Amino acid sequence: MFVSHLEAAIDGTVIPFGQVVNTHNGRPVWVRYHLDRIRNAVTPAEIATRPPTLWRYRELLPLPADASPVSLGEGMSPLLECPRLGRELGLNRLLVKDESQLPTGSFKSRGMTAAVSLAKWLGVKRVALPTAGNAGGAAAAYAARAGLECFVFMPADTPIVNQFEAHLYGAKAFRVNGLINDCGKIVRDGTDRMGWFDLSTLKEPYRLEGKKTMGLELAEQLGWALPDVILYPTGGGTGLIGMWKAFQELAELGWLSGNAERGTRNAERKTAQSSVPRSALRAPRSPRLISCQAEGCAPIVTAFEKGERFAELFPNARTVASGLRVPAAVGDFMMLDAIRASGGKAVAGREATIGPWMRRASSAEGISICPETAVCFDVLEKLIAAGEVSPDKTVVVFNTGAAPKYLEALPVDLPTLDKDRVDWDAIMK
Ligand SMILES: *Cc1c(COP(=O)(O)O)cnc(C)c1O
Repeated sequence: MFVSHLEAAIDGTVIPFGQVVNTHNGRPVWVRYHLDRIRNAVTPAEIATRPPTLWRYRELLPLPADASPVSLGEGMSPLLECPRLGRELGLNRLLVKDESQLPTGSFKSRGMTAAVSLAKWLGVKRVALPTAGNAGGAAAAYAARAGLECFVFMPADTPIVNQFEAHLYGAKAFRVNGLINDCGKIVRDGTDRMGWFDLSTLKEPYRLEGKKTMGLELAEQLGWALPDVILYPTGGGTGLIGMWKAFQELAELGWLSGNAERGTRNAERKTAQSSVPRSALRAPRSPRLISCQAEGCAPIVTAFEKGERFAELFPNARTVASGLRVPAAVGDFMMLDAIRASGGKAVAGREATIGPWMRRASSAEGISICPETAVCFDVLEKLIAAGEVSPDKTVVVFNTGAAPKYLEALPVDLPTLDKDRVDWDAIMK
């Protein structure tokens, strides 16, 4: 067991591990580890020999060693070089970390495998959550896998596929005539009466730990190095905050070797700056975290631009990127702290570019790009044009979900053919 304790993110209050905990004063709770013990217990070389699921980072996850995870074989997702799309954007090295291939078609499975495993270990029998989209399907699937009862509450305009999957995996699922925060209130109000465990984003400590593995995998796949820039679509913020936590833990473990530049460029830099001590050259810089939101729901962008640590409720939240439709996030200050500490920023992408970018990026590389990630590409293009991301940087874009879950976002009207009189000229057009 490598967990040392839980810690309130807002004021550092220490909370013992091993009992059911949700939030502290309504704000999220970190899991803290004995990193010195982990350093002695396992090495990156040993991790490399383990099966390719996120549970390969077992020592850095909160489930005690004698408990079995509730797993559907999630992770490691591929880190794909995207030379064609990179060239179009003017970048030497663009990579997409493709989470669309995970169970239930989004990175929500990472959080749920951890949260449901811990809930089961703690003796919970019933879980509930609000969802704007993919979280409900993932929770339903992992609850089914664990044999737990699951209750899902979603806004009435949630994509049909997400309604379908929550139902398919046996959850008791409901549409609510409100936004995700209204759904969250139902879950909160029902906690005592219904006796369920609240699985809401950042209202229990373990989904964050599961999502942290995106950062661990990214580092491992780059040879225990980190890229220069990461673009991440941000809703509730667990992905962004989790990745930031992963980078801190890896740095403290001493497992990071430097930034993921190409060998040749690295060597050039070393000769060009030979007066700089080697240790300084090797010290890993944090990647700049670019938090991407849709212009129709951008509370973190607004707070970032105003220089504030907490975000205000974003009025009339609207976007087809349903994972980004989170008008108020309990982890707002954790996101804003991480973005600023990394030297990054929060930027909004344009709604009108979502459909076009889904098709452009998917057709350039054959990767199933979700609307949330389409927003990242609009932001990336803007940052390149403004000179804020230069062509020599290694840029990673996270593709957090699979495009077919969002049939509403990219309407398709294919030309039809008459089978008896095929028009060959029309086919070539
Ligand atoms: C939930 C979700 C997001 C937002 O993730 P957070 O980690 O909660 O910020 C982004 N993309 C997709 C596809 C999602 O399902």
